[in-house]
Amino acid sequence: MNNIDEKWGLVLDDLINQMTVISFDMWIKKLTPLDVYENKLYLEAPNTATKQNCLKNFSYLLSQSISNNFNLEDFEIVLPDEFENIKNTLKESKNGIQKNNPFNPKYTFENFVVGKSNQFVYSAVKAVAENPSGKFNPLFIYGGVGLGKTHLLHSIGNFIFETRPNLNILYVTCEKFTNDYLETLHNGNGNKIQHISSFREKYRNVDILMVDDIQFISNKKETQEEFFHTFNDLYQNNKQIIISSDRPPREIATLEERLMSRFSMGLIQDIQSPDFETRYVILQKKAQLENYKITNDALALIADTIKTNVRELEGVLSKTIFLTSLLGRSITDVGEVREAISDLIEKENSNISPQKIIDTISRYYNIEKYLIMGTKRNKEIAFARHVCIYLIAEMLNIPLSTIGRDIFNRDHTSIMHARNKISKLYIDNPKTARDIDDIKQILLNK
Ligand code: ADP
Ligand code: MG
Repeated sequence: MNNIDEKWGLVLDDLINQMTVISFDMWIKKLTPLDVYENKLYLEAPNTATKQNCLKNFSYLLSQSISNNFNLEDFEIVLPDEFENIKNTLKESKNGIQKNNPFNPKYTFENFVVGKSNQFVYSAVKAVAENPSGKFNPLFIYGGVGLGKTHLLHSIGNFIFETRPNLNILYVTCEKFTNDYLETLHNGNGNKIQHISSFREKYRNVDILMVDDIQFISNKKETQEEFFHTFNDLYQNNKQIIISSDRPPREIATLEERLMSRFSMGLIQDIQSPDFETRYVILQKKAQLENYKITNDALALIADTIKTNVRELEGVLSKTIFLTSLLGRSITDVGEVREAISDLIEKENSNISPQKIIDTISRYYNIEKYLIMGTKRNKEIAFARHVCIYLIAEMLNIPLSTIGRDIFNRDHTSIMHARNKISKLYIDNPKTARDIDDIKQILLNK
């Protein structure tokens, strides 16, 4: 007889004296002691009724006697089929082989739709995942919000986790890196040198370091300094570094020259906004993954309307699906999409006026309003004017003829020309796309 059974016998002796024989036979006697793990005794009940009854009526008696005889403060009653799982978990954590995958299971290479806008970045990221510390080190990827940077970093994580679980891979946001570091510096208790060395152990003891949204490092001098040393240490030891940012290194304000030059040592690759086809396939994939019932026309309408970024695309898709279920319909069609979109546009743009757009752009480009409204053809001024026209048409849905007649005092064709020019630049020119996204964010108060 093993130790646990012996002690359990003492518990039974205890309890039989403190309850009726019927209760004892019906409930307590049916429990079997299984194992002790982390100061907890696991008991098996043959069914839920026994488990619940014991917990409800006898848990005080049980815990007292377990505390006396096992010297344990806690116990748990499990069902037979639960025990297999628990045993496995116990075994794995005892052997220390259980390593939790910290990466989002949905963010994989398989779930990432590749199109013209992201094919280069995808190849680079895939190459790094397959062959870390190979030819792309460091890898710096950049692109506007919601274009898939975090998704790609997690894909690397998931891939490495599956294929090379022995590699030590660390993903942090720049914010986390900064906070970790500042905590190390400003932690009043204990030994500062010890804090710093445990920080360094964490960040330098890895095979792959990924830092997401590095742009937040601008204006943080101390953190830049530490990151520079982390970078050098890893790089010299031939470890892979992967960085994401919403803009290229040279546009990160106050980024130290030496960090910028480090980032340029490997590959810098941008992600562009997806074209219609890619947007459509992304939606299709998402609908498949989530088992949404939605017509192709409805998907196409969403893809055609939401051009900003993939996160918004997904947002509108979920909203549309939600609306469909609210309305008690079984399949989502263009009608539901229209309702979802009109609601969004109304809510988002309700306190935006042409005046507000013009004011915002005037501040953004630092060009006086009268110049924007005037007729000067100087390049910067004309560009700001065209952006105004584009955003007024795009965000407020005001007809071009009205914009021409009531706001700029120009004919319909020149307004159309301006709008089309910026539409095209928005697709072809990342800098324009970023400016416009920034201005929209300001207008929407995000
Ligand atoms: P970022 O980090 O660039 O702001 P995320 O990686 O968070 O963007 O992406 C936002 C959302 O869009 C996520 O749900 C992501 O899965 C999805 N997404 C972005 N690009 C793609 C793509 N090419 N294929 C599939 N999903 C994508
Ligand atoms: Mg991100």
